[in-house]
Parts: sequence; structure tokens; C-alpha cells
Amino acid sequence: MQATASISQSALAHNLSAVRQSCSGSKIVSMVKADAYGHHLTLVDPIIDESDLLAVSELSEAQKLREKTDKPILLLSGVYSQDELQSALALDCHVVVHEKEQINLIAQTKQRIGVWIKIDTGMHRLGLLANEYHECIEAFKNNTLVDVECVMSHFACADEIDHPTNESQLNEFNQLTDDSIKRSMANSAAILSNKNALFDFVRPGIMLYGISPFGTDESNLKPVMKLSAPILSIKTIQTGESVGYGATWTANKKTNIAIIGIGYGDGYPRHAKNGTPVCINGELCPLIGRVSMDLICVNIDSITAKVGDVVTLWGNEKLSAETVATWSDTIGYELVTGVSSRVSFNKVL
Ligand SMILES: *Cc1c(COP(=O)(O)O)cnc(C)c1O
Repeated sequence: MQATASISQSALAHNLSAVRQSCSGSKIVSMVKADAYGHHLTLVDPIIDESDLLAVSELSEAQKLREKTDKPILLLSGVYSQDELQSALALDCHVVVHEKEQINLIAQTKQRIGVWIKIDTGMHRLGLLANEYHECIEAFKNNTLVDVECVMSHFACADEIDHPTNESQLNEFNQLTDDSIKRSMANSAAILSNKNALFDFVRPGIMLYGISPFGTDESNLKPVMKLSAPILSIKTIQTGESVGYGATWTANKKTNIAIIGIGYGDGYPRHAKNGTPVCINGELCPLIGRVSMDLICVNIDSITAKVGDVVTLWGNEKLSAETVATWSDTIGYELVTGVSSRVSFNKVL
């Protein structure tokens, strides 16, 4: 008996159409980096088939993706050497130029290449500064082999709708660019909250996987990954007895508990606190004691359950990855991306 991640194809299709509905005038660049946010590239066909472009961080990811599709692939980290440039060309990638050192390398290309220029509008992570951006445009201007497809930037605080940085970044972007070049700014949070940020290309990630970028449950997205695991044992704990490593939970009355076959070795967060909900036979039951590598323990005093019953850790209508993330001081992104290779992945309708 093994933990399982079921990847819902209908939920993927639903979430992609939710993106199309929110931004009908924009093309969709779907983010499938980190193995489709941990959902596995081989299991997300509705995204791969229905998007206009696909984006990954690294060449190794582009290579795997190219085996699945002929669609344009955007390489977010760009290239750093002639070798990488050749690989990107061979894979027919569009490359991001975000660092001034990349400008010359691209300018020397011997083959036609599509380029996305990334500018820093206030996040101060990747992106050219204003003067570097102008130099970059100059460097590519008369180069018939370099096709500047788009200029992009990335929000630092899009998940906090009223954060002043959103407006200042958008102002900076509008000042530096105009509609002579196609533009792209919006991640999931901006797609869902800021009509002024949509431009020509939107870049949804987490919302495609049915997780709200705002960490809340109210959205019309459908969870894509359902993580489940079997009950391996059931026992009764007497008053005063403790459960798990460190004996951090002690029964204050006679309590029935279930031992579930999943732990941090599968990607269930070790920081999940006492009380984190686990869905057993449709009811939410509280986690007790520490999460171990292969096992967790759950208080099932209020429900009936038996050995072999399969429980849901996240991703059904009662229990979202966002909820478990909140109980674990992290974000849904990290949970789904962290499901380990020990878990059996499968496609479901
Ligand atoms: C990952 C990523 C996104 C998608 O962000 P979400 O919050 O998952 O929607 C968009 N743009 C860039 C540059 C990214 O790296």
C-alpha cells in the first residue's frame, strides 16, 4: 500500500479555461517549470495541448518538454554560454534575456532566435535595469537574427492585492515600454486581480494546478492533485500515553488513532502542526504528534475507519493544499512541488 497523487485531467482543463475567461485578449504562457509544479510533465496534457506557449526555468526541463510538444518553449533563465545557446536553438526555445552579460552572447547568434527581454521593475531579482534595457534594445535593433518577441517583468507582491509595490511596478513597466513590442507582466495572482496587468501574454502557474495564489479557498479553480494514502493501523491510546517521536502529543482521554502510510519522505510537510486536518471517509480529523518519514498519526475518535481505508491529505472538496500549507507555515506551491518520487502518480479524469 502506497501513497498516491492523482492528477485530474478535467481539473486542468477547467483551470486553463478559467484563465482564458479572465483574459480573453491575451495569449497564455503556461508555467510548467519544476515538473509542472510537481504534477509531472507527463501528466498535464490539457495544459500542454491548450496553451499558446510553455515556460520552464532550465534547459534540462526544456529538453524533457520538447519530447512532448512542438509548441514554443520559453526558457526563463536564458543562456550563459555558446553551448547553452546551441542547445536552446536545437530545442527551438525562446530565451529570456534578463542579465546584461547575456546580451552579447545572444547578439552573436548565427541562427534566428526568439528573445524575451525581462526588465526589473522593482522586484530586484532577475531583470535588466532601465539603462540596460535600452542598451539591449539597441544591441538587437539591427540584428535580423534576433526576434524580440516580448518584454516582460514580474510582480513581487501580486498576491497582496493592495500592496503599493504592484502599482509602482506597473507604472515603471508602462513608462519603460509601449505597444511597439508585445508585453507580459501577469502571474496567477495578477490575472485574478488586476485587469491593467494583462497585456499581450499572461503567465499563469499555480492557478492552472487549482491552487489559489492568495492562499485561500474561495476561487472557482479545481484542485488538480489529490494526495492520498492508506490507513496502515488503528489502535486505542489510553489516557496519559503519548504518540510519535518526541512524545509531543499525549492523550487526555482514551482515544482512537489511525496510522497513515505517508510522511515527509513522500513530501508531506514535517512542519504540519498538531491539528492539521486529514480527510478520512469524508470527515476532517486532526493530525497528532510529529510527522515522521513514512507515517503520520491522526485522531479518529469522532469517525469510523478501518485498516486499508484510503485517506486524503489534500486536494478534494473538503481539504485544499492551501489549508495544509497554512497549518505548516508554508504555501501550496511548496507542498505540490515537493511530493517525492516514492509517491505513485497517476492520471484520473
Ligand atoms: C513561476 C513564474 C510565474 C507563475 O507564477 P504563479 O504565481 O505560479 O502564477 C510567472 N512568471 C514567472 C517569470 C515565473 O517564474
